[in-house]
Amino acid sequence: MTLPSGVERQRFSDREALATQGEPTYGEGTTDGWRRWDPHRSKLGAMLEREMETGLSGGETVLYLGAAAGTTVSHVADFAGPTYAVEFAARPVRDLLDVAESRENLVPLLKDARAPETYAHVVEPVDAIVQDVATRGQADVALTNRRFLREGGRLLLAIKARSEDVTRDPNDVFEDALSTLEDGYEILATERLEPFHDDHLGIVATPK
Ligand code: SAM
Repeated sequence: MTLPSGVERQRFSDREALATQGEPTYGEGTTDGWRRWDPHRSKLGAMLEREMETGLSGGETVLYLGAAAGTTVSHVADFAGPTYAVEFAARPVRDLLDVAESRENLVPLLKDARAPETYAHVVEPVDAIVQDVATRGQADVALTNRRFLREGGRLLLAIKARSEDVTRDPNDVFEDALSTLEDGYEILATERLEPFHDDHLGIVATPK
């Protein structure tokens, strides 16, 4: 598995861990200017820990859907190029604005990822979409945002089974989500994200 340039395994006090270089944002450990990327707090971090081939090499233009307070997108902006961070809840966006202060390439957008037409005038074509919205209709959100993805680009998606239906077997939920996604994407890889995130599926896909 190739880590993007700008993401490295560094030795922290207790163990080796993924890390990026940038301003610390959530009380994470640091060593020599590197910030620890905690896979328990990040689906993308877990996908890298599970050695999924993300296709990220560093410097990409990224659309990040479900940015919350910026934990994961802060690491993404450390190694990526222009990074558009969509989040529809006003409260976490306040923290996201702080995270963006030290990152010129990070553009917070208080928008609903189900309505991409509301940010289409701001977001340029991107090399990767990273999605972690944990809401019903996660595959539909990925489909509706596919318009931003360049040919050959990557969708890096975490599906949370319980956000779709708490009562169903997660495997059935994942099967349905993959089948919906196939309307617009070719699926390149899937991995369950345990032990970092229960009942989540990591998906790497490319536009058809
Ligand atoms: N990705 C974040 C991280 O690792 O730092 C955590 C994201 S949290 C699991 C899911 C976030 O998606 C929440 O902050 C929620 O408000 C946001 N969200 C859910 N539905 C959304 C939508 N339709 N548009 C934008 N954000 C959405």
